[in-house]
Amino acid sequence: MYIKISNLSDGVHNFNFDEAVTQINLEEPFYGNFLADVELSKSINQIILNADFSVSAHFECDRCSNDFNTELKGKFQLVYFLGSKPDGDEKDNLVYLPITADRIEIGKDLRDFALLSIPMKKVCREECKGLCFNCGKDLNEGDCNCDKSKTDDRWLPLMELKNKLNNNYIEKDNAKS
Ligand SMILES: [Zn+2]
Ligand SMILES: [Zn+2]
Repeated sequence: MYIKISNLSDGVHNFNFDEAVTQINLEEPFYGNFLADVELSKSINQIILNADFSVSAHFECDRCSNDFNTELKGKFQLVYFLGSKPDGDEKDNLVYLPITADRIEIGKDLRDFALLSIPMKKVCREECKGLCFNCGKDLNEGDCNCDKSKTDDRWLPLMELKNKLNNNYIEKDNAKS
């Protein structure tokens, strides 16, 4: 997947992509089409790319183990410089292109950002009640008869670990946005 830049005038240009996920080498858990709105702002030796994308994926819920489908959305910015790369200039979102470049390849970047958009914590919905630690019943379908006041001791270390992990994920999620 690429955008031709050889005849691009200075200014802002918009491009829309609607392609099968396989076109950018995305496989499971992604499915269907990959949608991207790409805006290029071109000036003499520089192109700023802003992309918004959305893609469908299916996961297994971390709490209730049911499969669910979800839409992942993300955005990113890349800056392309036409010209040779100065020594030691390593920045993540900076790309140097030969002055003669006639296109920018965006398939790999779209793929990388789609992979980054996979959440650490995968829940079918925020209010998912998960499974009973004792009998394994899906509590979204209704309560079980287990005594919730006493938890099987064998599960305690695991529950604590799970809580800790979930909290970490939440903190990370917040830090990211
Ligand atoms: Zn769930
Ligand atoms: Zn139960």
